[in-house]
Amino acid sequence: MQFHLNGYRPGDPHIAEPAAAQGGSGVGALPETVDVLVVGCGPAGLALAAQLSAFPEIRTAIVEQKSGPLLRGQADGIACRTMEMFQAYGFAEKVLKEACWVNETSFWKPDETRPGAIIRSGRIKDTEDGLSEFPHVILNQARVHDFFLDVMKSSPSRLAPHYDRRLVDLAVDLDASPDAPGVTVRLERQDAGHQGEIETIRARYVVGCDGARSAVRQSLGRELRGDSANAAWGVMDVLAVTDFPDIRMKALIQSEEEGSIVLIPREGGYLVRLYVELDKLKAGERVRNRNITERDLVAAAQRIFSPYAFDVREVAWWSVYEIGQRLTDKFDDVPQDQVQSRLPRVFIAGDACHTHSPKAGQGMNVSMQDAFNLSWKLAAVLRGLAGPALLHTYSAERQAIARELIDFDREWAAILSGTGKDGVTRKPDPKVTQDYFVRHGRYTAGTATGYTPSLLTASGEHQHLASGLPIGMRFHSAPVIRLADAKPMQLGHVAEADGRWRLYAFAGRDGAAPGSALAALCRFLAEDPASPVRRYTPSNADVDSVIDVRAVFQQAHRDVDVEAMPAFLKPAKGRYGLIDYEKMFTVDHTPGADIFDLRGIDRDGCLVLVRPDQYIAAVLPLDAHADLAAFFERFMLAPGEASAKEPDRVHPGR
Ligand code: FAD
Repeated sequence: MQFHLNGYRPGDPHIAEPAAAQGGSGVGALPETVDVLVVGCGPAGLALAAQLSAFPEIRTAIVEQKSGPLLRGQADGIACRTMEMFQAYGFAEKVLKEACWVNETSFWKPDETRPGAIIRSGRIKDTEDGLSEFPHVILNQARVHDFFLDVMKSSPSRLAPHYDRRLVDLAVDLDASPDAPGVTVRLERQDAGHQGEIETIRARYVVGCDGARSAVRQSLGRELRGDSANAAWGVMDVLAVTDFPDIRMKALIQSEEEGSIVLIPREGGYLVRLYVELDKLKAGERVRNRNITERDLVAAAQRIFSPYAFDVREVAWWSVYEIGQRLTDKFDDVPQDQVQSRLPRVFIAGDACHTHSPKAGQGMNVSMQDAFNLSWKLAAVLRGLAGPALLHTYSAERQAIARELIDFDREWAAILSGTGKDGVTRKPDPKVTQDYFVRHGRYTAGTATGYTPSLLTASGEHQHLASGLPIGMRFHSAPVIRLADAKPMQLGHVAEADGRWRLYAFAGRDGAAPGSALAALCRFLAEDPASPVRRYTPSNADVDSVIDVRAVFQQAHRDVDVEAMPAFLKPAKGRYGLIDYEKMFTVDHTPGADIFDLRGIDRDGCLVLVRPDQYIAAVLPLDAHADLAAFFERFMLAPGEASAKEPDRVHPGR
């Protein structure tokens, strides 16, 4: 990480200097107006608020009906892709240290030689090699919340939630100008001494991250459609003594007659989570009418584990789930037939717009990715960097992803419970389960998400220049050596959750020599009036505050001369004009680590443009200056064009 740019500051560099006028709020009275009101402190709401807290010029508030942070339970699976996102937020290392790593998955089936017993049928690597630099890990959702709350608390905004506030309803003033706080929200106090009191807050944008029963969604008149319930699963976090050998391994266990268990080893070395299949629900039957207790869950688990003993000493948390795959048709307040004429003001994210079974471990992951997709767009619009039409892309992109998830989840839940396409339940086939798990590994790792061509996703005309970095997919990191200090590192880790675009310029064989395509690119970006860096960077901000350009050379780092590099790659920044030496990288020549080979990058070089949420927007030739400019032209606003935004409200960068 980089710090001390604007002067030496003692103490923890993770704690940003508080902004003079903090935009965020949390303690004390709720503000009367804000730019963004986030409703709900689940993973979606906190991921969104944490990203917005990086921008003190944006007034953000986050409200939650509960009286404090979550302490236990709910989701626990953190996909590789989510770890990549946590890296951008700055807390991946903490999660790596505390979480349980899922290295292998084992499969158990009925033992044909011993009726009523189970036997191991297979064991595979959980994640294919090279899929991500991060593993798939397991950690209590409550700890994930804590990490986001820390980010908010340490941000320049010093943002903190307003607890004990339940959103009652909201109203959108369709005549309000885009710059006005056109959404009026009513909140009911839940805390002792104030119960029932109604507070009103007005916001330019409201994001409902308020879970499956979302009041924000209901205020918009939108519905979750799909199966509301068809199978019941119990979930419990337990401390148990057992002779089951794979108790510290993720395991899918299918018994002959007693149903299935998904076993998830948990952080700390002792805790385990069990998802226990209960009987199928009859049509119209709800699980709450069954009076299922934790004892029932323990007894069901013990029957499935037979012949192994499973002696539960403590149940830390338990719950019963009705699996329902449901989806909202749009994730904002604009009806589909008014997309051309109306701008979105209210959004929904996470479980508020899609629900699915916990078996694929996607709920928390996809919810946070919704938020990561939306937050940089809101920040870009509110900081005057992009026009508000950009906000339409949120629903368009994420609704398609949620639809895929629901289809996947329906299939996976059916395989685990042995339900065929005809709806008839048969004995689960362990081979089918294992094959499906392997085939969909990328999906569950979160790395299969891809956006189709749109305002933000260019066509694949030049995809062959970086065949391993597909446009629309997340930027798949690879090793590099930082030129100035020879540090081996992951290139993708330069991307922080700071709202900036990344332009990776992979140099041709001639590097940055005079006459090279890279030298010409640097000249264009630094000097040409059409350069997107020149056009969209406010005059008082650092040169990399909107588009952060990084160059990667093919040569070994000792063969590349820092002195000979274009000045654009050694920009002077901050109040002292200090030089940023972290823009230049070379290939790591350790066998198997060459980023050009790993990601299929053409040796003549190319440009890879990456969005603030780490997805690849375009792959272009190094000399495609006009195409690069045209891409940004579609949605960015130059400072003069920015409506009602003063240039000094734009975050100047660290
Ligand atoms: P949520 O995590 O549901 O967060 C919504 C937040 O909004 C909550 O804090 C809620 O209190 C708040 N809120 C709701 N209404 C209002 C209102 N009107 N005003 C103010 N605040 C409001 N997933 C798994 O993968 N495995 C599991 O075992 C699992 N167990 C779960 C158990 C429970 C009881 C629940 C509720 C969910 C569980 N999930 C599980 C699902 C997983 O937790 C979600 O997919 C994930 O949390 C979605 O995140 P979210 O931020 O969209 O919503």
